This record gives sequence, C-alpha cells and structure tokens, in this order.
Amino acid sequence: MKWFISPIAILLSLTACKPADDSTSSKAPQTSQGKPQVYVANYPLKYFAERIGGDAIEVQFPAPSDEDPVFWQPDDAAVSGFQSADLILMNGATYSKWAEKVTLPQSKLVDTSAGFKAQFIEIKADTTHSHGPSGEHSHSGTAFTTWIDFQQAIQQAEAIAKSLTKYASEAEKNFSILKAELEALDARLLAVGKRLANVPLVASHPVYHYFARRYKLNVRPVLWEPDVVPDDKAMEELKGILTTHPAKWMIWEGDPAKDSVAKLETIGVKSVTFDPCGNVPDSGDFMAVMKANVEAFEKAFP
Ligand SMILES: [Zn+2]
Repeated sequence: MKWFISPIAILLSLTACKPADDSTSSKAPQTSQGKPQVYVANYPLKYFAERIGGDAIEVQFPAPSDEDPVFWQPDDAAVSGFQSADLILMNGATYSKWAEKVTLPQSKLVDTSAGFKAQFIEIKADTTHSHGPSGEHSHSGTAFTTWIDFQQAIQQAEAIAKSLTKYASEAEKNFSILKAELEALDARLLAVGKRLANVPLVASHPVYHYFARRYKLNVRPVLWEPDVVPDDKAMEELKGILTTHPAKWMIWEGDPAKDSVAKLETIGVKSVTFDPCGNVPDSGDFMAVMKANVEAFEKAFP
C-alpha cells in the first residue's frame, strides 16, 4: 500500500489552487506551472488522459491510493482542486458519489461515459457492506465499472481526446494508438467469452456487469474482498448460489488471500483475477494490469 501518495496528492491539489471561476474558460488556461490542470475521477481516466495529452497537460488524481475512488470522500483541498481545474474528467455512470454534493463548473466538466448512457446497466438491490475507510455502501443503482468493457473504454478515451485537442496537438494520434491497444484486448476477451460459451462463473464483487455483457460471460457476484478469507456464512451463501449456478471459477478484483483460494478449492471452485484497476496499481500501469488480466483469463479458459 502506498500510503505516502495521499499527502503528496493533497499538496499537488493545493499548489494548483486558484479561485473557482468559470469566466476564464475562453482564454488559454495557464497555471503557475504553465500547463493546463486536468483533474480526473479515477485511475483509468488518469491513464487515458496522460496517454492522450502527454507532456502538454498535467493530470491530477487526488484520491488516496488505498481507497476505492468511487466511494472516496474528497477533503476541501481536493474539492477546490477540482473546482479550479482547467478540465475535469468524470467517469459518469454514478461514479464519484461525492460529486453529487458539490458544485463543479459545468463548462470544464466532461462526462466521459455520456455517449453510451443509454446502455447503462441498473443493478437490483444488494445488501450494504463496507470496504476501506469510506464506510457502508451499496452497489445497487447504475453499474459504474464502465471501462472493463473495452469498447466503452475506447468511447471514454475518445471523449477525453476530444476535450484535449485544444491543449495537445498530438491528442488524436495518441488516441488512435491507445485505441488499437484496447481493441486488441477486446478481441482477445471476445474469444475467451466464445470459448466459455455461457458456462457459469462467480465473481467476488458486483463490479463485472459491463464486462460480462460485452464478453458474454455468465457471472453471479457475491460481496467478498480479496484480502478477507470467507467465513462459514460466506461459504454457505456461495454454496447456495452454486446449487443453481454451478460455477467452477471465481473472478477476483485483486489477488485473493491464499486461504481463500484453498477454501474455494475444497468445493471445486478455482480462482482467477481480473483487476478493474480503478486506482493506481502497486506496479505497472493500466495497460499492464489489463494485459495481465486478459492473460490470466486466456490461461484459465484455454
Ligand atoms: Zn463494494
């Protein structure tokens, strides 16, 4: 865990501070560093913005690395960073619960998933639970893990490219390179989905709705965490699901604890990791994590 990121990120957002004022939007945005300040709601958007904008922009992602950015509650410094940004890239699809309670300058804001709003998935009620320091939450409502459908990721990256062309002359070229990489991963996962032919799978958390739809995977989620070993109650719940949904594999958001893997093996369920990578990974970058995810799936389902 990179606990040291958090104070640095707050410092960065403080140094980028200037009055929340919309009236300067017609002028070329300049800061003390001379680069347009682009604030982002999650790590995939940070990665896309950096790939597309390159050195022409400065990307700020103030969420701490040990929290899920979707349930993160920014402090005042982080909120004013967003408010004074030259460009705000949001995930949309009800991501950034905090943004419902603060006013952000609409002229600077890009909702990167707005283009496929009509295809959002509504999740029927699940029970509330907690992970990380943000307290209880529920996954009912609009599914928000949009980018692990790589066609949706491409649409989000395209929205970013459009918003960055005025700052970065290479934006369009950089986007087409990124798009080709995402297309390649998309094709590989489509092939895996075809091989799986609707075989039942379980998932450790309800974050795979768009992923399952795009790649035609038959997934039922539980509410587990990669670092928490399931207790007897959790195991009974899973066994209940398996009576009508006989899965032989569980998809995990992160590498599961050894004891969890062993416990699942006793009931004939194997483990495979597909990390949505909503926050900065411990090593590598978004593309490296996604490649590892796809490779793990190819290996599990040859
Ligand atoms: Zn959750």
